Amino acid sequence: MALMTISCTDNPLLKEWKDYAGVPPFDRITPEHYMPAVQKAIEIHNAEIEKIVSNRAEADIENTMEAYDRSGLLLNRILLAFENEESIASTDEIRKISEEMSPLVSRHFSEIELNEKLFGRIKAVYDKKDSLGLEPDQMRLLEETYKSFVRRGACLDAEKKEQLKDVDEKIASLQLKFSQNLLNETGSWTLTIDNEEDLAGLSADFIADAAARAEAAGQPGKWVVGLDNPSVMPFLQSADNRALRIKVLDAYANRCNNNNACDNKDIVKEIIALKMQKAAILGYETYADYMLEQKMAKTPEAVYSLLNAVWQPALRVAGAELDDIKAVAAEDRIENIHPADWRYYFEKSKAAKYSVSEDGIKEYFQYENVRDGIFYVANRLFGISFNRVDGIPVPHPDAEAFECIDTDGSSRGILYMDMFARPGEKSGGAWCSEYCDGGYDAKGVKRPAVITIVGNFARPSENKPSLLTPDDTETFFHEFGHAMAALLSDVRYHGNNGFVRDFVELPSQLNEHWAFEPEVLAQYAKHYRTGEIIPMELVEKLQASNNYGQGFAMTELVAAMLLDMDLYSMKELPEPFDVLTFEAKTMAERGLIQEILPRYRVPYFLHIFSHGYDVGYYSYMWANVLDCDAYEAFKETGDIFNQEVAAAYRREILSRCNEEDAMDLYVKFRGHEPSIEPLLKDKGLN
Ligand SMILES: [Zn+2]
Repeated sequence: MALMTISCTDNPLLKEWKDYAGVPPFDRITPEHYMPAVQKAIEIHNAEIEKIVSNRAEADIENTMEAYDRSGLLLNRILLAFENEESIASTDEIRKISEEMSPLVSRHFSEIELNEKLFGRIKAVYDKKDSLGLEPDQMRLLEETYKSFVRRGACLDAEKKEQLKDVDEKIASLQLKFSQNLLNETGSWTLTIDNEEDLAGLSADFIADAAARAEAAGQPGKWVVGLDNPSVMPFLQSADNRALRIKVLDAYANRCNNNNACDNKDIVKEIIALKMQKAAILGYETYADYMLEQKMAKTPEAVYSLLNAVWQPALRVAGAELDDIKAVAAEDRIENIHPADWRYYFEKSKAAKYSVSEDGIKEYFQYENVRDGIFYVANRLFGISFNRVDGIPVPHPDAEAFECIDTDGSSRGILYMDMFARPGEKSGGAWCSEYCDGGYDAKGVKRPAVITIVGNFARPSENKPSLLTPDDTETFFHEFGHAMAALLSDVRYHGNNGFVRDFVELPSQLNEHWAFEPEVLAQYAKHYRTGEIIPMELVEKLQASNNYGQGFAMTELVAAMLLDMDLYSMKELPEPFDVLTFEAKTMAERGLIQEILPRYRVPYFLHIFSHGYDVGYYSYMWANVLDCDAYEAFKETGDIFNQEVAAAYRREILSRCNEEDAMDLYVKFRGHEPSIEPLLKDKGLN
């Protein structure tokens, strides 16, 4: 309704989106549309809330809970479009708008969260919930909404509410500053190589890419290495020049730790202090207690118990890997292993043990083939298909669009794929996000979902397609798993749509399990020039070599998870508090191998200081327990595409999201709670 009343304005963000399947009109949206649209949408959202609170009729599920659930959809849609733009095409203009918009939006939502009249009506419904004859999803919506208001301070007195609002605003703007600093530092540092000898060990692809980067930077004839992952990781793995490896790793590991305008150490300290204050205002002992209450894990003890169960086996296996590394490095007369040596000598050790070169393997993983392999798995499991759609608006010229078609021929929505690196413009890593969730409107009509997955894979060049590493391939399966969950969710209320943080990685990580199954590889892993299917012998080596290195992988990952937990489990800030001293101390106490850095060091730990994974980074491991256990459900039947198991998985988990407690949903699918054994076995840590 709200959309109709303002369709006369010229702002495409405020109009009804009538393009194919309701995708955003990317071709008509320009940065200057965002602020006015957000301001208008906030007004509309306020009017919707006002209508709920000024209703004279007694509060009930329909006039209060359902009306609240449907409010703010326009604003939500605009914010999603903006956030997506910010992460895939960040410019100075967008960054400036973001700085202006972020406090405005966060103030708006805290005002709603602290709206006493609104909470009064929600509480009125909550207090009589057992006499209303509610359906289970209505009860879930009511209970979760009520709880989330309480957790945001609805039961606090006026003074404390003010304090909380102030704290939340400060956190929001510091988090933004944190991520902008990181983007700046990552984009601005480069290593320029002008001596060809310094390229020794690097692949031809890498060298071509580095030459193109130099060309683009106005330095033709030289080579440029950046701090983005597709540049830094291969360099650390293969550059023979040890001094340069150390230089690159130093720059990488000291991002936002250079005592300049982009330094994040004080920002981190402030963020932690503010979150501590927030937990105290709300009556929790620590911020970790506050954050975990509504998760599947529920308590810090449950998280620590999982991380500790993995930590010692991971260290043990990493120690054995270090012995191998030392043996190889000794041939180069290197006695003291530097962290910048780990990946390099590990690759040599791996090549000696398994003789699989990543470059050779990559030739079987052409981007388009991997993508089709991913579609193949989705089709075998759920009968859904993905059809390419051309000529519709796309978020970036790099992006492709696909329509997801269900078994009955109906459309589940649009999936964009924007998978190639754009250093300095696109955030690093890979992710899945949405432009529009596939919810239901007031009349019970389902909206198509509009989902995007984004990556930083190597771009195709003029004479070579984009070739993915096995890691990239796994990442691609991962993000697609998120997208599939979003496309297959079938939830009546917006408020019940979306997995809790430590459940959300189950669909993505489970999907990775199919990536390297011989049966699946035979479908898609074809040599990019000859079309030859990857030889089984190479597949077996690949599987064996995949298990090699899990000690390092698990150690750097769990180290970062422990850092997240430790930082947010403090009852008070030690005085003086230096984040790097804290990092060193907590890692040393746990016996982290000194040649391994945590996967993220504190000044660039984006997940927990900006991206909402605070007290949530453990979720990947938590979900890892779930995904290995869930995959076991398929394997136990002897058929990785078992239709009954797939149907139960779709029915009990993918389509339900948060309509029930995550553990209850899992048990309905699996028949029992997850066991940690399949994970340890999968990682070779048992
Ligand atoms: Zn994920």
